[in-house]
Amino acid sequence: MSHILHRMLSKTYPTAAGGEGMVLRDRDGREHIDASGGAAVSCLGHGHPDVLAAMHAQIDKLAYAHTSFFTTDAAEELADHLIARAPAGMESVYFCSSGSEAIEACLKLARHYFVEKGETRRVNFISRRQSYHGITLGALSVGGRMKDRAPFEQMLMQGHHISPCYEYRGRRADETSEEYALRVADELEAKILELGPETVCAFVAETVVGATLGAVPAAPGYFKRIREICDRHGVLLILDEVMSGMGRTGTLHACEQEGIAPDLMAIAKGLGGGYAPIGAMLASKRVVEAVRQGSGVFPHSQTYVGHPLACATALAVQQVIERDDLLANVRRQGARLEQRLRERFGNHHHVGDIRGRGHFWGVEIVADRSTKMPFDPALKLNARIKQAAQERGLLIYPMGGTADGTAGDHVLLAPPFIIDAATVDTIVERLGDALDASLASARPA
Ligand code: PMP
Repeated sequence: MSHILHRMLSKTYPTAAGGEGMVLRDRDGREHIDASGGAAVSCLGHGHPDVLAAMHAQIDKLAYAHTSFFTTDAAEELADHLIARAPAGMESVYFCSSGSEAIEACLKLARHYFVEKGETRRVNFISRRQSYHGITLGALSVGGRMKDRAPFEQMLMQGHHISPCYEYRGRRADETSEEYALRVADELEAKILELGPETVCAFVAETVVGATLGAVPAAPGYFKRIREICDRHGVLLILDEVMSGMGRTGTLHACEQEGIAPDLMAIAKGLGGGYAPIGAMLASKRVVEAVRQGSGVFPHSQTYVGHPLACATALAVQQVIERDDLLANVRRQGARLEQRLRERFGNHHHVGDIRGRGHFWGVEIVADRSTKMPFDPALKLNARIKQAAQERGLLIYPMGGTADGTAGDHVLLAPPFIIDAATVDTIVERLGDALDASLASARPA
């Protein structure tokens, strides 16, 4: 019996034993194509020699030094690298070990910024339904995945949620994409006015929605309007690029494609590419300067802040991505992946929507294409697809629909940036087989 407290207590898992490139190997020697990079983490695939060499070099030098005594070259160099390539106005980096912690840091620095400015009534965060921002209590408070929140609801910070920008289900037939984008963005302004602008701290959103909906980019113009609304009311904009950032959508930051910059941004998964547990908050000069001019203290720190091994590892990952121009491959193979998905599933009876960017694609499965009605969640179609795919040597990241029918089951594809054309084709073929087999098994006999 395993003594690991897995999320699913009664489930057993194969043991991962090794991996090279796009492939993970289990203890029985079976190979699995890693088409979701874990949970959109792996960007260089497994066992990249240059990353391993950088890790060895750092561990030979220094594994750890507490930041109340020292800074380190590894952390300083990674911070310089990130700020040189960050969205406009970014000045400082706070390193942590996960995406949830990066979000916690954003929430706390946003609040602290207003305390420093004497605007102490600003305590409210506004975020979106069907979002995921992490699993710790603060991150859960702004998150919109109800099943994660439910047991803890009474102990969360009060959340204020508006609609997601989810065109497939939200746009009315009489609206253009642009009109829809403005309509849902304007919900933010209405919520700010309802709460009172002097009480609102920040708006938090994933630039491209990941775990809850499966790679849903905003409709054109949405984030520009959001930025304007935040500025009009002195509200900070926190972008969560934990999943969608660090090259996943074909540009280093997903917000580059929206033509806006946030005040605070959370990054994680692709930062270390799975080679080290590392996340970060990027903070703008405007925010940091207010703290510098004020108390000069951000009262938030953790034991493993700026861990040298994690930082050296992430720097190596980022340098390889740049040296090998892998974002060009993300754009090239991402276009092929989209084309193959549309060929295979565009007319599929049970595929309602195919959406995404770069190496970040979602396929939403529905019982009825014309009404967009999801399958009954009791069928656990997502779990069947995951299982059927794994039996075919394919790792994908499927998620269930919501019980209230506001989203269907979906599959998230997020392959490493090193993928080649033949592997793109294999992924789509195996996914097609797995989906058809799962649908057949879910149908009443
Ligand atoms: N934000 C987003 C958008 C995420 O996708 C995730 C992880 N799925 C998190 C935050 C939390 O990251 P972690 O699991 O590393 O705490």
